[in-house]
Amino acid sequence: MSELRDLYQQVILDHYRRPRNFRIPPQPTQQAVGHNPLCGDRVTVYLQLDGDTIRDIAFQGSGCAISMASASMMTENLKGKTVAEAQALFQRFHELVTSDQAVQGPDLGKLAVLAGVREFPVRVKCATLAWHTLRAALSGSGDTVTTE
Ligand code: ZN
Repeated sequence: MSELRDLYQQVILDHYRRPRNFRIPPQPTQQAVGHNPLCGDRVTVYLQLDGDTIRDIAFQGSGCAISMASASMMTENLKGKTVAEAQALFQRFHELVTSDQAVQGPDLGKLAVLAGVREFPVRVKCATLAWHTLRAALSGSGDTVTTE
């Protein structure tokens, strides 16, 4: 488990222990469920859209520290952003955790601490689960997404 210890930085642990926006919003307009069978992570992402602005975003679920911290930081980052901005950030985050060519920018904020997962392909699925679930919620499909 030593590979994980290197990943579990302070910010990740903080968001795992005290996840932000870990609740069900009163009036979600969209939601989706995500499942990462490889690790057992489960997350439900709730959105309250106002036009194309993300008025509220929250999540529920259980899983490893990386999956929960990623979901927590994602909700913190996306509240108040537009759907287009959220889609762009999805791309940026996906590059961050999969490509060592990725450029870190201020738009990613705390999410940059997850860059280390690119060394561990299995963990990439943990880090991106909430984001794939977000995309499913935005598309309104209502399907359960799985990383497999
Ligand atoms: Zn996981």
